[in-house]
Amino acid sequence: MNKLDAQRQTEIQQAEELLFAGPQALGFAKGLFQGHFVADWVMPYPRIPAAQQTELDKTLSELRQFLDEHLDPAEIDRQADIPRDVIDGLGRIGVLGMTAPKEYGGRGFSQMANCKVLEEIGRRCGSTSVFVNAHHSIGIRALLLFGTHEQNQKWLPKLVTGEQLGAFALTEKEAGSDAANVQMQARPTKDGSHFILNGEKRYITNAAIAQELTVMARTPVPGSDKTAITAFLVTPDMPGFEMLEARMPKMGIRGTATGRFALRDVKVPKENILGTIGKGLKVALTVLDFGRTTFGACTTGTAKTCLELAVAHANTRKQFNKTLGNFELVKKKIARIAADAYAMEAMTTVTASLIDRGLEDYMLETAMLKVFTTERLWECINDVFQIHGGSAYFVDLPLERMVRDARINQIGEGANEVLTSFIALVGMRGPGMEFKEIYDTMMKPSRERGIAKAWEASKHRLGATVRVPDVPIQSEQLRPYGRKLGRLIWRFNVAVNRALIMYREPILDMQLVQERIANAAMDLFASTCVLSRQDSEIQVARRNGEDAPPDYSAADLFLRQSFRRIRGFLAGLTDNDDQTLLTTANSCLAKPHS
Ligand SMILES: Cc1cc2nc3c(=O)[nH]c(=O)nc-3n(C[C@H](O)[C@H](O)[C@H](O)COP(=O)(O)OP(=O)(O)OC[C@H]3O[C@@H](n4cnc5c(N)ncnc54)[C@H](O)[C@@H]3O)c2cc1C
Repeated sequence: MNKLDAQRQTEIQQAEELLFAGPQALGFAKGLFQGHFVADWVMPYPRIPAAQQTELDKTLSELRQFLDEHLDPAEIDRQADIPRDVIDGLGRIGVLGMTAPKEYGGRGFSQMANCKVLEEIGRRCGSTSVFVNAHHSIGIRALLLFGTHEQNQKWLPKLVTGEQLGAFALTEKEAGSDAANVQMQARPTKDGSHFILNGEKRYITNAAIAQELTVMARTPVPGSDKTAITAFLVTPDMPGFEMLEARMPKMGIRGTATGRFALRDVKVPKENILGTIGKGLKVALTVLDFGRTTFGACTTGTAKTCLELAVAHANTRKQFNKTLGNFELVKKKIARIAADAYAMEAMTTVTASLIDRGLEDYMLETAMLKVFTTERLWECINDVFQIHGGSAYFVDLPLERMVRDARINQIGEGANEVLTSFIALVGMRGPGMEFKEIYDTMMKPSRERGIAKAWEASKHRLGATVRVPDVPIQSEQLRPYGRKLGRLIWRFNVAVNRALIMYREPILDMQLVQERIANAAMDLFASTCVLSRQDSEIQVARRNGEDAPPDYSAADLFLRQSFRRIRGFLAGLTDNDDQTLLTTANSCLAKPHS
């Protein structure tokens, strides 16, 4: 391994260690990369306990009534502002503190229940979804996760009602996708009681309307010339806080206030540090895991709206003496949206349940959920737009706004390319380290300790290669899908092993290979969630003695299409145009003015 590769390996390892401590239960996604089907995390399909469900239903009905009466997404878009009475109403219903503990005035909802609330908002308005996410999923999340009792007591009561608003400020000019490259500095005062913050942040949702901002800045590492990121609670009334641009004019989610601000010698008390000093990157990345989960919920809601709009138009608009729904190329789009919406909901529910059940290491699943749902939603919106033809282009329908609003999803909270690479690399790290153990021992058989470890590693690798994992399905009619899924996981594992053996360390930079592996993993996870949901729904229907079998065609279609995609991604690992593609891109990049 050369120095650069070794450094990359260390970076990946550090990224993982950053996010969780100590030995971990094997999560579902990491299990996939090992050739296992870790059924306990995904089956049976998670359900909200009955008592919570009653409270959730009540909240949802209150929320629906409020949104029907007070939320006007077109006006929010036109005015580029979410009216204060909408924010106050959401606060009253509890939406702005849904998962905060009751002792601080929150509703104490689980992530699963919170996702249902956000799905409802996502059905109606992109701006309002992002506003709520910025405030609750990431803005006050660092407090909820890392705040001390004193901090929570001081800050949360006003934030959970919406009397005050929160924001999460990580991004800077030099720290976009490269989140670790934060440049904002935080220097301790001589007596250590305060930190002096200097620097600029940009693209921060709610920055100009928030009274509490979680700000990431670099603090010195004692005893070295290095710095590390620390999370601070900053308020805009602190002297030196300067709002450079309160509402950066933008394409979509125009109702949100996306701002740019500077901190110039802002004195922040050390009591405002969230979590451990120097561990702010862990705070930031854990917070973003929550944001990605509610991204899944909001995109699910929007996908359901796409389906409603597509069906309504296809059933009424006539061309060639037929309604559009009679044409197969229109049916194809409607069916695909229905299949994707079913999968997006299932994947969001399963991922949220991982958090609720206390799995500490869910970063792969949340990254998969974010990439998968935002990419599928973009397709759904494109399809419903096409079905509406020219009418979609005009502002009296919500479709042009939905296109503008949805485009941020593939960029915000981790650009999809960055997360795709992350999914492949973090996923492959487990089997990769086992291969490295085997390889190092073969090269240096004198490593006595190494032989035992290499033997263990070989057993694991070999075991996964000869065994097709069992997918425990209850419903007889779904077992063939379960068997197919098991075989695809086996094939995926073989493909991962082959890629690791073939490319070794250079795979760290081979994003085209990583993308296929990540895409296959995402579809395997999505299919698992769909199968789990469908299985559970069939079982419930059976227990309730329902005679007519419910219509599961959308789930069936998703599984068939997803399995086909997985086979395509795996085939693409050996049959592709990567070399020509790279040569073409390199040639363009070398001649920027031609
Ligand atoms: C409307 C809006 C709201 C936002 N709200 C917030 C907020 O509340 N808080 C906050 O901290 N930030 C926020 N952001 C910032 C957002 O998270 C960043 O825009 C995002 O992380 C991408 O960073 P960047 O824009 O600097 O793009 P860059 O990092 O410059 O990346 C540009 C593109 O390059 C590609 N790319 C980059 N790196 C790689 C790689 N390693 N491999 C392959 N491709 C790569 C990707 O396609 C990416 O989209 C917001 C942004 C917008 C537009």
